[in-house]
Amino acid sequence: MAHVVVVGGGIGGVVAASELRRRLGRGDRVTLVDKGGRHVFQPDFLWVMMSWREPERIQRDLARLSRRGIEVVTAEVRRLDSGAHRLETSAGPLAYDRLILAPGAELASDALEGFSTAARNLYTLEGAMRLREDLSAFRKGRVVVLISSTPFKCPAAPYETAFLLDYHFRRRGVRDSVSIDVVTPEPQPMPVAGAEVGKALAGMLRERGIGYRPLSKPARVDSAARDVVLGTGERIPFDLLVGVPPHRAPAFVRETGLTDGSGWIPVDPRTLKTSVEHVYALGDVTAIKLANGMFLPKAGVFAHRQAEAVARTLAAELTPRADGGTFDGIGHCWVETGFGKAAFGSGDFFAAPAPRVSLRNPSRPLRWGKVLFERRWLRRWF
Ligand SMILES: Cc1cc2nc3c(=O)[nH]c(=O)nc-3n(C[C@H](O)[C@H](O)[C@H](O)COP(=O)(O)OP(=O)(O)OC[C@H]3O[C@@H](n4cnc5c(N)ncnc54)[C@H](O)[C@@H]3O)c2cc1C
Repeated sequence: MAHVVVVGGGIGGVVAASELRRRLGRGDRVTLVDKGGRHVFQPDFLWVMMSWREPERIQRDLARLSRRGIEVVTAEVRRLDSGAHRLETSAGPLAYDRLILAPGAELASDALEGFSTAARNLYTLEGAMRLREDLSAFRKGRVVVLISSTPFKCPAAPYETAFLLDYHFRRRGVRDSVSIDVVTPEPQPMPVAGAEVGKALAGMLRERGIGYRPLSKPARVDSAARDVVLGTGERIPFDLLVGVPPHRAPAFVRETGLTDGSGWIPVDPRTLKTSVEHVYALGDVTAIKLANGMFLPKAGVFAHRQAEAVARTLAAELTPRADGGTFDGIGHCWVETGFGKAAFGSGDFFAAPAPRVSLRNPSRPLRWGKVLFERRWLRRWF
C-alpha cells in the first residue's frame, strides 16, 4: 500500500493526481496538497482581460477531486525532508512514499524594481481584472507589454496580449491614438520554436503596427516618471504597462536543494525523476534542457503531458499489471491574434539537433479549437 502525495493543484497536479487515482489500487492513497484550495485555469487570464470570461468561470474548487477518491489538503508546503519522506505544511506534517512536485513557478514581482507599483500583472487573475478596468477607460496613449526576464510561462502569452490589445483598440475605433510596443530580453518571439516561427510572429506584429523591441532587458521600472529603464540606460515611456513579472521556483523548492544553477528542478526528460529517489517533478518548476541547449518552455500543455507520463510510470511501479510511459516532448499552443482567429504552433521539442516546430496561420477554426479545448479541459478534470 503506497501513499502518493502531489504538491500543487494546477494543471500538472490535477492531471497527475487524477490519473494516478484512476490507475492505482484501492489500498493506495493519493493526496493532493495546494495552498489556495482552488484550481485557477491560467490560460484564460487573457480572456478575463478581454471580458470574455468571468473569474468564477475559470476556477474550480479542488475539493471536487475528493469525489474521485483523491484526498485534498488545503495547506502551504513549507519544507521537504526527503530523507524522512515527509513534507512540513501549514496544516502539519505529511508523510509520503512517492512525491510529485508540481507547484509551478512563483511570480517574483519584487525582483524587478518598480514593477509592482507601475505594472498591471498579466499573470495573475487580479492583474487581469484590473487590466480589464484600465482598458475600458484607455483611449489614448502608449501601451507597453513588458517581459521582465526569462524564463516565463507560456512564451506566446505576451504576444497574444499585444494582438488582443490591438484588436481591442481597433474595435473601439481608437487604435490611431494608441501605440503598442512589446519590450523583451528575448532575441525573437518564442526563441525555442526556432527562427522561422520567430520571423512569422515578428512579421505579424509588424503588420498590426505593434512595435517590437527584442534584446531589451529592463533594469527597473521608474514608476514616478512612468518609464521602463533598460539595462543600457535607455528609457521607454508608457501610459499603461502590461507586465510579465520575473519568475522563480517557489521558496520551499529553492530550499530543498533540488534546484540547479538554472534555479529550477532538473529532471530526467522522459521519466521526470529528480535527483532524489521517489521524488518526481513536473510542469513549470522543472528545467529540461533540449538538444539545442535551450530549455523546454513552461506551458500547461507540457505540465499536462508530463503528469500523464509520471502517473503511468508510478502506476507501473506500484501496480505490476499497469503499463509504464514516458514524456515525449510533443507540444502545441494556440497564439490568439484577435478578430476571432488564432494561429497554432506544434512540434517535437525533443527533436535533435533542435525542436521541430511549425506554425499554422491564424484562422477562425483554429481559434474554435482553443475554445473547445478550454471547455473540455475544465469539464474533464472537474
Ligand atoms: C496568461 C497566461 C496564459 C497562458 N496560456 C497558456 C496556453 O495557452 N497554453 C499553455 O499550455 N499554457 C499556458 N499558460 C501556462 C500554464 O498556465 C502553466 O504553464 C501551467 O499552469 C503550469 O502548470 P503547473 O501544474 O506546473 O503549475 P500551476 O498550474 O501554476 O499550478 C501550481 C499550483 O501549485 C500551488 N502551489 C504553489 N506553491 C505551493 C506550496 N508551497 N504549497 C502548496 N501549493 C503550492 C499553487 O497554488 C498552484 O495551484 C499560460 C499562463 C498564463 C499566466
